[in-house]
Amino acid sequence: AKSVDDLARNDAADAGDGGAEAVNLQEQVFGENPLEVRDTDHYTHEYVGGFVDKWDDLIDWKKRYESEGTFFVDQLRARGVKNVLDAATGTGFHSVRLLEEGFETVSADGSAQMLAKAFSNGLAYGGHILRVVNADWRWLNRDVHGEYDAIICLGNSFTHLFSERDRRKTLAEFYAMLKHDGVLIIDQRNYDSILDSGFSSKHTYYYAGDDVQAEPDHVDEGLARFKYTFPDKSEFYLNMYPLRKNYMRRLMREVGFQRIDTYGDFQETYADDEPDFFIHVAEKN
Ligand code: SAM
Repeated sequence: AKSVDDLARNDAADAGDGGAEAVNLQEQVFGENPLEVRDTDHYTHEYVGGFVDKWDDLIDWKKRYESEGTFFVDQLRARGVKNVLDAATGTGFHSVRLLEEGFETVSADGSAQMLAKAFSNGLAYGGHILRVVNADWRWLNRDVHGEYDAIICLGNSFTHLFSERDRRKTLAEFYAMLKHDGVLIIDQRNYDSILDSGFSSKHTYYYAGDDVQAEPDHVDEGLARFKYTFPDKSEFYLNMYPLRKNYMRRLMREVGFQRIDTYGDFQETYADDEPDFFIHVAEKN
């Protein structure tokens, strides 16, 4: 793990395959044709300065805490989980929650700026010292050590992978870092309903911040570009790959996960076009 100062100074130098390319720390860069940005490496250019700072407004911790309830904690406890790798720490919401619930937690993310924010959030919310590791999922085993009872990759993060090769590689890295009876929990937006019948978020779950608008700016089978508008009228974008639910389930099965339960907005039964989010709970054994 690096010091926070290092993390803040040198965003994502360790992301990618160790390249030291400097990235813009303040502004999102999508270039002249944003709809052509369909690249797994681009996430470090999207989670930058102003957006990272505002992400906690977008993801209102208190509301999120209430809407998730004990879903993840229950899933983990039911399987006797003790140590957890939060692979997509972001600003630290789940890492802090798990530490509070007594799980040993390692907090990884490919964006150093997100980790810096997570580290200070850990201190602010309960004085927790997060064990942060700056690691890209595609090289997770290289940069994070140990075996885990559970890996979580939440907040619609897996959607940042733009090629099937990267998705398979990431799932294989997760699989390898789990103990023989470990569990992987990944969530995703319900892109099937967005692709097939348009967007109609109830804004109940993750994007629960007041006055923050999250809406698709462009959607096709290869790209879901979302626009986030904040009360001060600032706008940020994320380019994501619109994962279909059954495709995602198939990938996990093919990588070796034996049992995959998919919940819709934390419920076991649901009509497919209803939930905003799907949560996959994949067992290795
Ligand atoms: N889990 C957090 C939450 O729910 O608030 C953060 C979610 S945020 C939408 C997605 C996170 O995934 C970002 O912090 C981003 O840096 C990280 N990420 C995206 N692609 C990654 C990759 N290839 N390797 C490691 N982290 C990645």
